[in-house]
Amino acid sequence: MIFNKVNYSLFFNQQCSLCQLQPAEISGLCEDCHADLPWLLLGCPICGLPRSSPDQPCSLCQQKSFKFDRTEAPLEYRFPINSLLPGIKYQRRIQALGWLAELLVHHLQDRCETWPDLLIPVPMHPIDEALRGFNQAELLAERLSRKLQIRCHSGQLRKVHRRAKQMTLHAAARRSNLKGAFSIHGELPKSVALIDDIMTTGATADEIAALLKNQGASQVQVWVLARTPEPDRD
Ligand SMILES: [Zn+2]
Ligand SMILES: [Zn+2]
Repeated sequence: MIFNKVNYSLFFNQQCSLCQLQPAEISGLCEDCHADLPWLLLGCPICGLPRSSPDQPCSLCQQKSFKFDRTEAPLEYRFPINSLLPGIKYQRRIQALGWLAELLVHHLQDRCETWPDLLIPVPMHPIDEALRGFNQAELLAERLSRKLQIRCHSGQLRKVHRRAKQMTLHAAARRSNLKGAFSIHGELPKSVALIDDIMTTGATADEIAALLKNQGASQVQVWVLARTPEPDRD
């Protein structure tokens, strides 16, 4: 019987997706790697900005700077997440999206009291998507849709103008760079979640949330894997 048990563990225990050394225990990770992730424990309830004080809106959100209502992000954009997410985009390490999506699902199941009716991934311009071969936000949204049984529609929101890369611009320039970059088609339900891998300044989510609200949505949540610690960090 012991022999059978050992064989079973050899065949069926997955290794940790990060260290590849210990068996995966939680969401594809070993306990140590899971505990060492840069968890976002306290964030602004509206924009997710990591904070040291309890769940109060940050100074930007107190001035009602954003059109979206809430941000959910399980992680801060720090090591190893700040090397994993670019690795997905630029080195096609798409398999990491599997366990990262699991982390987001667990976070949402702990935090969400009301669920949106529709998931919409932040779109890429068709030329950029063709060059990369995939849109990581769309892959993430499809996984969330399957796990949470919420409809996902990636064709409804489109990026119609190709602009300078947001990561090369400062906060104010990011906002003006996005004006008119997106278009939305068709009716929307009242409650929508916008899906992306990362939120940096919130400018992209804000531009899209304004469009979604003009088109009939009254509640827009933003679900991302990671939030940058400071708005102007990159
Ligand atoms: Zn590990
Ligand atoms: Zn905020």
